[in-house]
Amino acid sequence: MPAEVLNLVAGVPTEGEPFDVMNPAAYDEVVGIGHAAGVKDVDAAVNAASAVGAEWARTPLEERVAAVLKGISLATSTGDPDELPTLLTREQGKRLQESRIEISHATEIVKQFASLAEGALAEEVLRDELGTRVRRHRPVGPVAAITPWNWPLVLSLVKIAPALMTGNPVILKPPPNTPLTVTRVMSALARELPPGVLSVLNGGANIGAELAGHPLIRKVAFTGSTPNGRKVYASAATTVKNLTLELGGNDPAILLDDAELDERSLSLLLGAAFITTGQVCWAIKRLYVPRSRYAEVVSALTSALSDFVVGNGLDPMVRLGPLNNRNQLQIVRRLADGARSGGANVHMLGSYAPGLDPERGYYHLPTLVTDVDHTAAIVSEEQFGPILPIVPYDNEEQVVAMANDTEYGLSASVWSADPDRAFGVARQLETGTVFVNAHGGPALDFTTGAGGVKQSGIGRELGVVGLLQYTEAQSLTNRVRL
Ligand code: NAD
Repeated sequence: MPAEVLNLVAGVPTEGEPFDVMNPAAYDEVVGIGHAAGVKDVDAAVNAASAVGAEWARTPLEERVAAVLKGISLATSTGDPDELPTLLTREQGKRLQESRIEISHATEIVKQFASLAEGALAEEVLRDELGTRVRRHRPVGPVAAITPWNWPLVLSLVKIAPALMTGNPVILKPPPNTPLTVTRVMSALARELPPGVLSVLNGGANIGAELAGHPLIRKVAFTGSTPNGRKVYASAATTVKNLTLELGGNDPAILLDDAELDERSLSLLLGAAFITTGQVCWAIKRLYVPRSRYAEVVSALTSALSDFVVGNGLDPMVRLGPLNNRNQLQIVRRLADGARSGGANVHMLGSYAPGLDPERGYYHLPTLVTDVDHTAAIVSEEQFGPILPIVPYDNEEQVVAMANDTEYGLSASVWSADPDRAFGVARQLETGTVFVNAHGGPALDFTTGAGGVKQSGIGRELGVVGLLQYTEAQSLTNRVRL
């Protein structure tokens, strides 16, 4: 029986134009039905948010935080702990273990923001002979949260939790390929909040654009591709909206000549390159290796990837699920073909799960590309798939220049037996985060915040900095210096 999710407009479950959500592991299988919202739903949700916003902002912080904590706990506690992870895997494609992590991260994220909110929002009062000055943060106003299909729940909650806790109403526009789990969870969370404080509107880019451009929306928090981020940026200019843009990435990993290639580092490296079948903004997309160690590194990665099994994410032996959609598979195939015809060696490794018909889903074997030039499209474009190009280099100056030779700047990593040396190289990289001897998820520092520089985005998510993105600094003062 396919799952069906309705939109939630100002507290009211609302039908729209129904659309099928297909399983990327078996693309003739309908997993569920979503409902595309219309322009009138956007208006109704934004007007309701605007109307209820002032009251929500006046609600004491402890009550707002408690409501979000209770809501997410109720929303994610199902009788069968694998019910939501299974739904997520069936619509997204990722393996069940990753879906379990995504669901458990949802609660963790909310708890983390809850633990930071009081300290971050505390007013700072200065009283002296000149008078009084108050520094405070006020909510920015109705927020449009627009999210992609790779980690749909987590990427929604890193926006919704801080926005709600800091006193803003939110309208979420989930991705059309993976709307089911996130709409279910957010609608349950919304039931713990006053009607209109959290609405959920499904649909495609047109509804996203309608919402992002609405004059009563004060902030757009968008995660998606850089080209679409530019469109959101342009439309936000009309009414000078506050923005957080988390956009594309093309993360380099740099192995220094003394890097240890043991079981731990190999596992961290491959985990970061092939997480969600490579469909993560901060996944390692290009690996730079000293020429002196090139053959050794290629051999170690080839041997490790040969054990990877590709198949339906619900199968416990599977290490890589399918790509999420046909368009993504075509992008990955085009880049692999381009690398091959450009003279690089393309090694497709691993194997399909026994009995799997790979033509029935968006499957792609884990792939290494060797003897590839730094300027090849497989290196310079964001491929968002299970391919790792390995580029040789001759010295540190050259590799830093190659790593920075991009309009992307999300994150990077430097691997070395000498952490001080690695931090020295890290300081030269133009990215929001640089990891040392790790990359991405396992090393993400919640307290620091994460985000991109250059065309990877504007603003930061997570941590106090991520919480304050949903506020405007305000100062109240009667201090006069004559
Ligand atoms: P996408 O840009 O196609 O879509 C993202 C969301 O925006 C979807 O909900 C979509 O319906 C909506 N949308 C599309 N065009 C819009 C417009 N003009 N106005 C408003 N909304 C619009 O991205 P995707 O294909 O879903 O996701 C993959 C991309 O997301 C990759 O480039 C990846 O790097 C990026 N991403 C970035 C991060 C990060 O934190 N930096 C995290 C995950 C994914």
